[in-house]
Amino acid sequence: MKRYTSSIIKLTVFIVAAVIVYVCTPHTREPVKITDVPAGKGFSVVEDKIPLYDGLGDDAKVVRYLAFGEKIFPKMQSELFYQLKLGKDEEGKPIFGYVKKRGILIYNPKKKHVALTFDDGPGQATTPIVLEALKKYNCRATFFVVGRMLDNRGMNLLRREVAQGCEIGNHSYSHPLFTDLKKRDVNKQLDRTDRLIYNAIGTTPKICRAPYGGFNKMVLNAMKRPNIYWSVDTLDWKTKSSKKTFKAVKKNVKDGAIVLMHDIHMPTAKAAGSICRFLKKDFETVTVTELASIQGRKLIGGRNYAYIEKENTKNAKYK
Ligand SMILES: [Zn+2]
Repeated sequence: MKRYTSSIIKLTVFIVAAVIVYVCTPHTREPVKITDVPAGKGFSVVEDKIPLYDGLGDDAKVVRYLAFGEKIFPKMQSELFYQLKLGKDEEGKPIFGYVKKRGILIYNPKKKHVALTFDDGPGQATTPIVLEALKKYNCRATFFVVGRMLDNRGMNLLRREVAQGCEIGNHSYSHPLFTDLKKRDVNKQLDRTDRLIYNAIGTTPKICRAPYGGFNKMVLNAMKRPNIYWSVDTLDWKTKSSKKTFKAVKKNVKDGAIVLMHDIHMPTAKAAGSICRFLKKDFETVTVTELASIQGRKLIGGRNYAYIEKENTKNAKYK
């Protein structure tokens, strides 16, 4: 007992001393380092409402909120913020705004953009091969996962997908044709998979894809989120051929395309590298949400999207 008491006293003395030293030490804040933003890059808002502040201090006020898909043109940056020129004051001095870098996507405006999507996984033997290819060529993709694949190992793959900047979409729990189900059962399929995904990565998907591409009004209502269809069908599940899968992408890909593949088939997994390498020349390969942001289009819940063209494209098509 005595030993304990003396330990507690020693510890208390130490803590008190530490607090005194801390309080008496003058604390100067590191000045915020401002550097140039490299030229030639595009900056697009990928979150819903991002506050634009009038300063960097604790008392900074929100000037306005940036919208999804909005483009910004920062010239200067700190570690955490971009500085935007908002105009001039009465004396002709520039007025600056500041926005957090989180939620701003850097992209190459000179390139075309495409979303590769992989359905029905994760697959233990195949998805890692796709992930390696994406990493090698600095590409991101969207994985429309099926809940029944999400055992512990599946969840680990999901975390790897997210760690590489990929997006996760909900593709049902057991892959039924939604149009054959009652709305209640469609909801069950989506909820169960949402929960599993949440358990693995801490967020629920913002997008869904109906199994077999089968949807109607009821299905879209149940999703409450955008249904992501495709504009390039590689038929990889049918041909089971790396060569044909690659050729289907090469032949049909264009700006705003959404490419359908399945990361549970080995020929598809093996084609991923050559597809990424081919696309690299003219395209940036991004997630569905990033594609929408770059194209300046907010995806709306309960609607179907087969591809995502630029906002000002006349014949932008919703299927
Ligand atoms: Zn599927």
